Order: sequence, then structure tokens, then C-alpha cells
Amino acid sequence: MNGKMQEARPLIFSETKETLAAALEARGEKAFRATQILEWIYKKRVRSFDEMKNVPAATRAWLAETYDFMPAKLVAKSAQASDVTEKFLLQMRDGALVECVILRAPQEGTGEERSRKTVCISTQVGCAQGCKFCASGLAGWKRNLDAGEIMAQLMFVCWEGGDKGTRETGFTDFDNIVVMGMGEPLMNYDATMRALTIANAPWGLGVGARRITISTSGVVPKIHALAAEPMQFRLAISLHGATDEVRSQIMPVNRKFPLAQLIPAAKDFSEKHGRMITLEFILIENVNDTLEQARKLAEIARELHAHVNLIPYNTVEGLPWKRPSGNRQMQFLKILQERRVPATLRREKGHDIDAACGQLRLRNLDKEKTANAS
Ligand code: SAH
Ligand code: SF4
Repeated sequence: MNGKMQEARPLIFSETKETLAAALEARGEKAFRATQILEWIYKKRVRSFDEMKNVPAATRAWLAETYDFMPAKLVAKSAQASDVTEKFLLQMRDGALVECVILRAPQEGTGEERSRKTVCISTQVGCAQGCKFCASGLAGWKRNLDAGEIMAQLMFVCWEGGDKGTRETGFTDFDNIVVMGMGEPLMNYDATMRALTIANAPWGLGVGARRITISTSGVVPKIHALAAEPMQFRLAISLHGATDEVRSQIMPVNRKFPLAQLIPAAKDFSEKHGRMITLEFILIENVNDTLEQARKLAEIARELHAHVNLIPYNTVEGLPWKRPSGNRQMQFLKILQERRVPATLRREKGHDIDAACGQLRLRNLDKEKTANAS
């Protein structure tokens, strides 16, 4: 069977309140129907059109003819022994495998028992950016996810991840959404923005924009576009090299958009949004972990008033890179701290967390091939 055929119908999860209301009005229905339908989906969390009891049968039949409800199958769900992460591997209608992850971390210093819940989502199948250290890029880029497929990851997390928010508040209990799974979100800009708009909307999942972080490898024109958006999403930049020489060696995107363009773009974003951005810096032994890199990184962070998140590299099967020793990591951190740069070094948890990036799909690529062939 051909995946394309199955994809012909749009997913109900890609509709905004406006587009759904317009489609309903075009068939002579009242606009409030859209509100009812969206309530069933995002507040009551039904999993089919049939369950929408106050929607007339004819409208439900039209919905079922016009849209697909189930965007994917859950093919694997795995909790880590440490109970820090829970991964969901979804198979899309064309067989493509997409992962999303729940990360749970204790709320430090708040005295609260409840841990913080961060949901990490993917925006593409594979990635075309080709960063040398990353599992997502290894198998190349296959396709973009559409807005409904991006939203659907959040819905599966709500359905299957024990979401407790909905009954009391009508919203989810997610503390944060991070767009740090597979793919480069700014190379799939429109679908990502549309999905995040739905995640953010009061009629959708209602996750505050400031609780949503988009991570990019540095697609400069799109960072400017994001800066101009009214929504207050947060931005993280995967820097991983504090000079063009080091950065270009591991991130091909830097040849197209070098630091002399990336830094002003980041500045544009933080100035327009009045918010600190995050610079992510994976520490890779003998690649970017010199103290000279740390000093240069401190300069960039100070110029941008950015927070630095140091992440010890998480080894990827088939790639030669390693994380530096704990001692080296601490030395690197110290240089930032001495220069008063707000910086954190991810400890053990990082291992689980970073496994989010593409590695699950890589291990399951055989399944994807089988699905495509069937
Ligand atoms: N494409 C976007 C978002 C997805 S990657 C981006 O690059 O920002 C999310 C983060 O995981 C990025 O900072 C990426 O550099 C990092 N990452 C990728 N592979 C990793 C690995 N093996 N160990 C640690 N971090 C990794
Ligand atoms: Fe793509 Fe991000 Fe991985 Fe680079 S780090 S290959 S941009 S997913």
C-alpha cells in the first residue's frame, strides 16, 4: 500500500479554531460547532468522532469523511529504569517512525513533591542539517511532519502518559514543551508554528508560550522570522562551537550561516522578546572542549545575555565522538562561571534526556522499512 494515498485526508489535529469554524460555516453550520468539537478533542480527550455526543450525526459523518482522527499507532512505549524519561515511538500513516519523550525532573528548591514534566517533540522524520555528532542526521532527511502530526505527539502523551491536568483545569499538566526531538524545526517552520499555536491556544492544550522552547541549529532567516512573531515562545540555539572553525567542523549549517550572522539573529530575537535565550553546548572530547572555546563561548553568552546549557555528549552508535572527563567538564563550566555567565552543566540525567534526539528511531529503522514495503 502506498503511504501517500493514506495521507490524503488531513488530520483533525492540524485545524485551528478559525480554520475549523470556516470549514463548518462553509457547509452552513454554526460557528459554535467548532468550539464543541475542539472541546471534545482537547479537553475531553476523546479518540474518535463518534464519541462527540452533542455533535449531530450528520456533522460527525462529515468530519469522518473529511479528516483522519488517528494520526499514528503507538508502536513502543518505554520507561527508563530511573523513571526520568518515558519514550513514545509512533508510527505515522505512511510508516514513518517518530518519537516523543516525557522527561520528569524534580522541582529543585520548591519543596514540591510533584516533578516537572517536560514533553520533547519531533518536527521531521530524520534531519537534513547533517550535524556530525547527531543520530537524527545519520540516516538523512525523509520528510517534514505536518502540523497535525506534530500536535498528535502531544495528544499521545496526553492519552498515554497519565495526563492529570485535564479534569480539573481543562488544560494539560505539562510544565514545558521542548521542540528538541528529531528534525530541525525552523526548516519546517509553518507546520511547527501552526502546531505550537494549537498547543498554546486556550481552546487547544493551553500550554503557555513561555513554557514552549524551540531549539534550532541556527537557520538565521527563520530566527528573524520567529523574532517577528507575536507569540512569546522561547528560543534555544544549538551552538556547540564558539568559533566558526570549530562550529563548521561539526555543523555544516555554520558554513551557510556563520557566527557573524547567527549572533545578530539571536540578539534580534532576545531584544524583541525581552527574554534570555539559551545557548546549548554539547561537550565533545578534543573537538570543542578546550578552555579557549570556553572563553570564546563566555564572550558570546555575555554579548547575548544568554544562559548556557552545557551537555556532556551522549555517545551514538556508529559515531566516534566521546564526552570529556568530568574534570574537564568542570573546568569548562568554571570558566563560564568566573565570567559571570549563567551556566548549567547537565549531570547524569542528561544521558536519558539526550537519548531523545533521534536515537530511538535509528534503532527502529528496520520496522520503518518493513512498514513502507507492506
Ligand atoms: N534540530 C534542533 C532540535 C533538535 S536536536 C537543534 O539542533 O537544535 C536537540 C538538541 O540535542 C540539540 O542541541 C542537539 O545538538 C542535541 N544533540 C544531538 N545529538 C546529541 C548527542 N548525541 N548528545 C547530546 N546532545 C545531542
Ligand atoms: Fe538536525 Fe538538530 Fe541533529 Fe543537527 S542536532 S542533525 S539540526 S536534529
